[in-house]
This record gives sequence, C-alpha cells and structure tokens, in this order.
Amino acid sequence: MATDIKLAEAPASYDGPGFSATSFDKIIGLARANSLWPLPFATSCCGIEFMSTMASHYDLARFGSERPSFSPRQADMLLVAGTIAKKMAPVVKQVYLQMAEPRWVIAIGACASSGGIFDTYSVLQGIDRIIPVDVYVPGCPPRPEQILDGVMQVQELAKNESLRRRNTEEYQKLLNSYSIQ
Ligand code: SF4
Repeated sequence: MATDIKLAEAPASYDGPGFSATSFDKIIGLARANSLWPLPFATSCCGIEFMSTMASHYDLARFGSERPSFSPRQADMLLVAGTIAKKMAPVVKQVYLQMAEPRWVIAIGACASSGGIFDTYSVLQGIDRIIPVDVYVPGCPPRPEQILDGVMQVQELAKNESLRRRNTEEYQKLLNSYSIQ
C-alpha cells in the first residue's frame, strides 16, 4: 500500500530587520541602569573618596553617572558618604523623601553604614535607621573601586526594578516607621 507522506519543508530563513522580544520593564531598566544620576551627600573623609571616584582615573562617567545632581528631584541614587550626626539626620531623610521613585541609596563607608568609630550619643548609628539602604560599601574609607562596585550593584537593582514597585501602602508605612534614635 502506497503511503503519501510529505516531509515538512524547512522554513525559509528570516532575512528581515533584526528584532528582540523583551518586556517594557527590561528596556526601561536598562536605560535607567546606565544613566543613574548620583546625589552625593558627603559630610567627611569618605566624601573625598567619592571625589576621586568622579575624577578621570576612576571615571564614574563610564557608568553614565558623571552628572552629580544636587537637586533631589533630579537624582536617582543617594550616596551618603561620611558621619551623619543626629542633628543632620532629618536633613538626610528630607533629601531622600524629595527624590522621585525609583530611587536607590548607597551607604559609603563605616560611618554611614553603622556610625563607624563614632559610637557616641550625637552620631546616627547607620543611615538605615532613617531611610532604606540598598547597598552598603564597607571600609574606613572605602577605596574608589569599592564605590564603583556599589554603583554597579545599584545598576543591577535598576535593571530589575519593576515600574510598579514601592508606591504601595506597605512601603509608605515602612518609610514612616524610621526614627532618629
Ligand atoms: Fe571618615 Fe572612616 Fe567615617 Fe569614612 S568611615 S567618614 S573615612 S571616619
């Protein structure tokens, strides 16, 4: 008995323009990650290391972050570098609250992360007591390479950020729960 089976023809190769299937979140994330505008909140020695990070040798501009923004409304990434006295803490929080979402925070050095060597009544024992911190950079002071590594960690967070994150009631409750003690 004769069979009439036809082999499927191989599809013709695609010779049109290239395309990429991805989500809108990914495209926005990629753009954000490569154009993070830093707001340096530098109070002491760690701030000097940030200046070095910005200068030509370490060249923060390679990461699209060459434009420091001293206006919180135009900044994406708050870099707190140095000792934060409790009297200064409300200012740090105010600056953070004035930044638009999405925003990221790097605590640069031991003082910003935990109070460092200043375990005293007048010094905030870490900025995470008043605002959420995304990346901690250890050291007293950290080298510029470490600060660059912190920025690269924020880039990874930015790439995977959801467009809808953080504007939730729970997030607002979290923000209100921080206090200066
Ligand atoms: Fe200065 Fe060290 Fe504190 Fe940085 S961590 S601000 S270098 S004392």
